[in-house]
Amino acid sequence: MSEIEQRALSLLSRFYGYRSFRPGQLETIEALASGRDAVVLLPTGGGKSLCFQIPALLSERGVAVVVSPLIALMQDQTQALVANGIPAAAIHSNQDEGYNRSVLDAAFAGKIKLLYTSPERLLMELEHWKHLNISLFAIDEAHCISQWGHDFRPDYTQLSRIKEEFPSVPVIALTATADKLTRDDIITQLRLRDPFCLLGSFDRPNISLRAYSNPGMKARMQFIANLARKYPQDSGIAYCISRDGAEKTCAALSAMGLRAVCYHAGMSADARNRSMRAFLDGSAQVVCATVAFGMGIDKSNIRWVVHNNMPGNIESYYQEIGRAGRDGLPAEAVLFYSYSDVIMQRKFAEESGRQGLNIEKLGRMQAYAEARVCRRRILLSYFSEERAADCGNCDICRNPPSRFDGTILAQKALSAVMRTGGTNIGVFTLINILRGARRSDIVRAGYHTIRTFGAGIDLRQEEWTDYIGQMIQLGVFEIAYDDANHLRVTPLGMRILKGEEKLTLSTYVPAQQGAKGRKRAVESGPEISADPVQQLFGQLKAVRTDVARKEGLLPYLVFSDATLLDMARQRPADIDELLQVSGVGEKKAVRFGKYFIAAVRKFEGLTARQDTGASLRETLVLFNAGVSPSEIAEIKKIKLSTVHSHLANLIAEGMITTYGTLISRKEYETIVAAMQADRAKAYETLSETFSRGIIDIALAIARVKGVL
Ligand code: ADP
Ligand code: ZN
Repeated sequence: MSEIEQRALSLLSRFYGYRSFRPGQLETIEALASGRDAVVLLPTGGGKSLCFQIPALLSERGVAVVVSPLIALMQDQTQALVANGIPAAAIHSNQDEGYNRSVLDAAFAGKIKLLYTSPERLLMELEHWKHLNISLFAIDEAHCISQWGHDFRPDYTQLSRIKEEFPSVPVIALTATADKLTRDDIITQLRLRDPFCLLGSFDRPNISLRAYSNPGMKARMQFIANLARKYPQDSGIAYCISRDGAEKTCAALSAMGLRAVCYHAGMSADARNRSMRAFLDGSAQVVCATVAFGMGIDKSNIRWVVHNNMPGNIESYYQEIGRAGRDGLPAEAVLFYSYSDVIMQRKFAEESGRQGLNIEKLGRMQAYAEARVCRRRILLSYFSEERAADCGNCDICRNPPSRFDGTILAQKALSAVMRTGGTNIGVFTLINILRGARRSDIVRAGYHTIRTFGAGIDLRQEEWTDYIGQMIQLGVFEIAYDDANHLRVTPLGMRILKGEEKLTLSTYVPAQQGAKGRKRAVESGPEISADPVQQLFGQLKAVRTDVARKEGLLPYLVFSDATLLDMARQRPADIDELLQVSGVGEKKAVRFGKYFIAAVRKFEGLTARQDTGASLRETLVLFNAGVSPSEIAEIKKIKLSTVHSHLANLIAEGMITTYGTLISRKEYETIVAAMQADRAKAYETLSETFSRGIIDIALAIARVKGVL
């Protein structure tokens, strides 16, 4: 094992509580440590942050500068780092300048390992920061640099100046957006030299995928409510295409008794912050949001993401659903889509200035929504990842669509379009004709007199919408986007109409079905699991909520769900065992350990386990983490003298070798001198000024040093 690897592993375990690196992380860390540039492309939750945070810690004196597009993101990351005991801070223009100055002073004094800032602020300070000892630059959300990406930020293009001003400092660019154009653009624009590239798999196998064609408003709301109740202690996001949609969804869910909040760009910054806060601290179960919400959301226990409307491209969609299940535990992504979404997105695409590209992207998104093959394969193939097998965790895999001969159905629809002139109606009117709806517009146009009026009354509106959608997908109809989105019959459609060709359709699956299995659980409140791991997991989550409130922290900054689940499996009974749990670093073990250990013990019906070996080790861990003897006594609920005697033992065993915080030089010398003078009388005279514990500690040190 190389020296770097050894040090990196020890930092990983001490500060993050993890035992091994994920594929590619160590290689990236080593590349940076050797001064090489790097590009990291991993999906959300893939573990990008460690790729620059560990190198930042490896550098003894330097500070790593992290460029981030959003203030919320900076705050989130610095808080998470500080909670792990890593000195980090942010400088940005939304913060008091006096505070910024003090952060900068601390950075100049070498007291900060990671300094987060915005691109504009960095560019402003670049000259001045030449005197900082910068270990590396990390450009987070690096796709923002590219006009090809979906989130272009002009400020990012100026970041090429970093290499001009700091030619010898390594730069690492990180993003969750993978397409080839953007990737190359990042490398060129940042002027990276022969960077180490980490391109991880974009698969997120823990996120189950589902899509439903055009469920009604009521079904959608019921579906979301069921999801929220299925995960009563966690939260989810309902994305809507418009502000109005977000408001309405929020109102509907609130009326159903859910704790829902709204988030969109039309709200005041204040109201938005309140929503964000409620979502992050778990007091809201659902946030109903436009795409304005989410970038950099680090909350690890988002269990589900529902899209009330179809997004305009797969990149955005994948990034949005990727916010679920960052902890690697099962999560759900559900897409509701309809033709009106397609039409709306089409309009956005046409007005976008990159028409061709965006319409192409929209087509791929639509194909995903209407897929009748494994959805994950479609997603991964979009990101150029070959996948030979079906995933088994999407609706198509779990419930392969049943097919039927849809020729007659298609003929009814085709005939209706032809009889209304062949170019005059869109999907909506077509369905109304087929279902025999005597709406005024239909009667006015005389469509109620054609032969196919009411010919499809046996099918519900949603079913027709789905089938016509399939027909469009299969090339029976085309949509004239340049002519009020009216339907046109294609040559294939003409052949079907004439009975020269048959058409196979997939049976419509209503949205409610997906949540049906849950119905009973919903009516009788959340399920109580019989599995003891799940039971304890649930209790630990409740403890986390309490601890978070008490400590004024967001719950997921205390521990992630993945960590709590591992804890529920391992059932640590003391701090030593707690440190074995994945995701428990030293700082958090000390700060929060007692609450969780108490919960585990309570669960097991155990009272405090007082075997001295474990107790001694516990004292050692606390001491190493910088906790003072009196605080240790308080945490462990034992007497200070017992802590001192533990410490004296640990010194005697050579487990503690720095004594400065335990006893001053003067105290030590006084005690040793008295002992050397007259050992028999020493205790008596010394105990007038010193506690027994301090005397024991001094003696232990003196023995280790061979003085006595
Ligand atoms: P990204 O920035 O790529 O979205 P993060 O860096 O936030 O992802 O990591 C996602 C989650 O995975 C975090 O909870 C993080 O602590 C965890 N994680 C990262 N690396 C490891 C590892 N080597 N072992 C275990 N968990 C890890
Ligand atoms: Zn699948």
